[in-house]
Amino acid sequence: MVVDAFFSKNYAIAREHFKQSAKNLGMTLESIPIGQFGPNGEMLSIDVAIQSGSMPDQALLISSGLHGVEGFFGSAVQLAVMKKWQDDPHLRPTQRLILIHALNPYGFAWRRRANEDNVDLNRNLILSCESFRGSPAIYKDIDHILNPKRPPSRWDWINFRLICPTAKHGQAILEQAITAGQYDYPQGLFYGGTEPSHLSKILSDNLDRWLGLSQKVIHLDFHTGLGAWATYKLLFDHPLSDNQYAWLKSYFGNESVEAISDEQSGWKGGLGHFCKTHAKDRDYICALAEFGTYKGLQVLAGLRAENQSYFWGNPNSRITEYTRQRLVELFCPKSASWRKDCIRQAITLVEQAINGLSTKS
Ligand SMILES: [Zn+2]
Repeated sequence: MVVDAFFSKNYAIAREHFKQSAKNLGMTLESIPIGQFGPNGEMLSIDVAIQSGSMPDQALLISSGLHGVEGFFGSAVQLAVMKKWQDDPHLRPTQRLILIHALNPYGFAWRRRANEDNVDLNRNLILSCESFRGSPAIYKDIDHILNPKRPPSRWDWINFRLICPTAKHGQAILEQAITAGQYDYPQGLFYGGTEPSHLSKILSDNLDRWLGLSQKVIHLDFHTGLGAWATYKLLFDHPLSDNQYAWLKSYFGNESVEAISDEQSGWKGGLGHFCKTHAKDRDYICALAEFGTYKGLQVLAGLRAENQSYFWGNPNSRITEYTRQRLVELFCPKSASWRKDCIRQAITLVEQAINGLSTKS
């Protein structure tokens, strides 16, 4: 399969392709503007394509771009599966389908991971019983390293700056403190915000309606930037029953399935937990499908440099443009083999989810 055509140069092109592909399949389309504009003045929206299906009690939801720039890959997956269904109608699922394009259209359009308020949306989807407060204790010590208040420089290597904190706390604890999410440093990385985002309201208002009559739902939310090059893992940020966990492992493979419990990771505000809660009494499983790209420190260095440019750099400078291009490469590599392997695995994952819906007890 030639996969290059599925990878769009920017958000606006990806959105047009998504809408056209959905129309070709006769799916119903909805656009929800978020009140923001892209670099070329284009209106930014979350777009949703729905097929009712002849088996409406089962639903597959595929979402992309929760982390903005990761939408370059997620939208490519959505285009690839829609092309497959278009080319071979026998492969088209009979279940209800909900495809959500660009959960964070601002980040996608402006090539950022966070949204227009520098919010990491996968830390912002806080339930009503939780609060937008707290940060890992270590984050305070390393805020000046992670988020220096100056433009990026070629000679400022984060791996050297992290040597002391790593020696003091250990790598695993440090990594967890950095990525768990924080609610105190609005210009910092992995910031969860102080209030519900547009997305939080959009999902609370619409998710139940989008899911229709479905009782069994599998939700695949595509991400990149975590894990080994061109491999994937399915991460679950919501509680799973023993039965669900066993089924997932037997169905998707022992190696691929990883439950992230709240206590272990310190995470809150994740998409899966939020959607499962708003899906009411449905049997709802949300997998964050994480495709690996570059090494963790490279990804972190790229995020840090882009964040420095965003807050402290000249928006029109070459270095700012470089940091954005670098971020796209870190989350959606140009490598032909990476793209081919990852699209192939993502399509298989979607097919497994479709088959899984009908076999799942
Ligand atoms: Zn992500």
